[in-house]
Amino acid sequence: MSKKSYIPPVRGIRYLRISLTDACNFRCLYCRGENFRPTKEVLTLQRVELILKVFSLFGLKTVRFTGGEPLLRKDIIPIVKVATQYVEDVSLTTNGFLLEKYAKQLKEVGLKRLNVSLDSLNTEKFQRLTGGNLEVVLRGVYEAKNYFNVIKINTVAIRGFTEEEVDGLLEFCAKNGFHLRFIELMPVGELPFFKKEHFLPLEEIKKYIENRYGKLEPIKSNGSGSSKDFYLPSLNLKVGFIKSVTEPFCEGCEKFRITPDGKVHLCLRTTSEIDLLPHLTSEENLEKFVPRLLALKGESNRFIALNGFGWFATAKSMIGIGG
Ligand code: SAM
Ligand code: SF4
Repeated sequence: MSKKSYIPPVRGIRYLRISLTDACNFRCLYCRGENFRPTKEVLTLQRVELILKVFSLFGLKTVRFTGGEPLLRKDIIPIVKVATQYVEDVSLTTNGFLLEKYAKQLKEVGLKRLNVSLDSLNTEKFQRLTGGNLEVVLRGVYEAKNYFNVIKINTVAIRGFTEEEVDGLLEFCAKNGFHLRFIELMPVGELPFFKKEHFLPLEEIKKYIENRYGKLEPIKSNGSGSSKDFYLPSLNLKVGFIKSVTEPFCEGCEKFRITPDGKVHLCLRTTSEIDLLPHLTSEENLEKFVPRLLALKGESNRFIALNGFGWFATAKSMIGIGG
């Protein structure tokens, strides 16, 4: 990344990801270490409400619930419902395992957008990578299709694994009206999986698609802006690319993450965290703290811009942060 001397200040909190739990029923090799043990969930429904209420005063438009697996939270439906009182765009990312049970209720309480992670359409490969059951996930996705107009399928690109999934995923998404998004593998956490030979730059997938299916036409992205989105006329399909490693998008970033243990995590590529719990005692206290949070986020953006953004591991893995 080019080194910049001027980094714009962070003026608001536009996009917030809240990781509701770091418990998960899958064990994706790129996300969760074998010895990982979930922490105690401190983000109660009341605390989530307090955060959203106050952050909405500072421009919050989108909240995405993530995890671990957010659908493991017993109170996921009331949490989504309360979020819709303060935030226009309430979304959720899930491994899909519990969607068959929850899709209808999520829609009823006002969830706007749904992302489902799906790295393979081959039962055995899926099991090997994630430890999960593909058939159950697919049943969940089909159930969700009854309620959500737009479902995004998230696929982490892995060298030697994803290349032979691309055609199947494109056809699956085209047939069902889903959007497909490829995500570059990020070495977040010290996991044995993060070997350079597993890294597959998304430009390769993009070129493959264009050679085989015709030109991808750029379209305006919605959401957090981290995805570069395209329309593929030959399949009538939207395809996005999140090039977090080869084309990072840090400048002016107003994305905040809250971990299940109540920390604000400023950037996936640094270890900087700020404990929010002492400020969650009242609306006034949290409101007083937000300007400090904005300043710290500005410093974090500046640090990344000046120091570059390479392939290096940070202490906490994705399951502890929420992706
Ligand atoms: N359990 C849910 C799921 O899998 O969708 C939500 C949490 S998961 C941490 C959120 C997203 O992060 C998923 O789309 C997952 O594929 C992605 N992710 C996890 N580890 C990653 C890594 N090392 N690099 C890139 N994306 C990763
Ligand atoms: Fe669980 Fe999601 Fe991480 Fe996979 S990516 S281990 S499903 S939190």
